Amino acid sequence: MLGLGIESTAHTFSCAIIKKKSGRGKILSDVRKIYRPPDGEGIHPREASRHHVENSAGVLSQCFKEAKVSIRDVEMISYAAGPGLGPCLRVGAVVARSLASYYDIPIYPVNHAIGHIELGKLLTGASDPLVLLVSGGHTMLLAFLERQWRVFGETLDITLGQMLDQFGRSLGFASPCGRDIELLASDSSNYVSLPYSVKGNDVSFSGLLSAAKPVAEKNRADACYSLQETAFAMITETVERALSFTRKKELMIVGGVAANRRLSAMLGNACKRHRARFYAVPIKYAGDCGSQICWTGLLESQVKKGARLGDTMVMQSWRLDTVRIDY
Ligand code: AMP
Ligand code: MG
Repeated sequence: MLGLGIESTAHTFSCAIIKKKSGRGKILSDVRKIYRPPDGEGIHPREASRHHVENSAGVLSQCFKEAKVSIRDVEMISYAAGPGLGPCLRVGAVVARSLASYYDIPIYPVNHAIGHIELGKLLTGASDPLVLLVSGGHTMLLAFLERQWRVFGETLDITLGQMLDQFGRSLGFASPCGRDIELLASDSSNYVSLPYSVKGNDVSFSGLLSAAKPVAEKNRADACYSLQETAFAMITETVERALSFTRKKELMIVGGVAANRRLSAMLGNACKRHRARFYAVPIKYAGDCGSQICWTGLLESQVKKGARLGDTMVMQSWRLDTVRIDY
């Protein structure tokens, strides 16, 4: 089966085409355009949605060109229906709905967070992992039980990605800033003590963010290094506790922050201590992309008919632990 997936939850507008054959998926194309706010500023939802409108036709046609297929070959269309920024989500939904209704193709609204997880499983081969989802929109520790993802810990305030981006912007970097912080952190090994906040198995990053800013006024590299060490140690502690509790033998990290090598190293060590296998989604597919949405739509199409057009709305706060999974 040939699917088209459309992602537009936040900064990225992306379309991907995947061919699914007997449980395996081959990504034929995955084209992205990323909205970059001015240095030091965050995502402005209206500006990001304008970016997506301007780029949607170009991304879509490039996606077909690279896959060497036509819209007439596509057997299902999926789009990220949430969670995300309303104006951005609506651009992807409108593109998907227009194509689906004009060409009479079944349409599937997909939960963006589940997209991260399903593509991660496809690309890493993990079968029943404890999942760490760390991105701009999520910081969650999840395990699958009785047809739903269950939350074993999450952030009580801002996400890990937001914390890195807000800190990076205070240093004048352009968002997203995780990579710049990682590079600057590698210039230091001088740890400055910062607030470490794990509550139960949840984490809180806002105090850490506030405390790191004055440290950066003295030494930016020390601040980046100490911020990473503290935040990643908090995450690793919750992962270790969840591994002990669930007795899962696999840990999979997905989401844009999965690209961070220091975080992977800390989690890899934790897995060794718990005799669990560690899987990190390939960096190219760690951040938001159409493949996540396309693959999840293809899985859903195995067990469900396409949605009625009237049910193809967007849901800005659609939590992944409310989604029932039947495939
Ligand atoms: P996503 O929302 O999944 O696209 O992920 C975007 C988030 O990943 C942003 O907050 C980025 O700052 C973060 N990110 C990307 N690369 C890295 C990196 N190398 N280290 C830490 N965070 C990163
Ligand atoms: Mg994401």
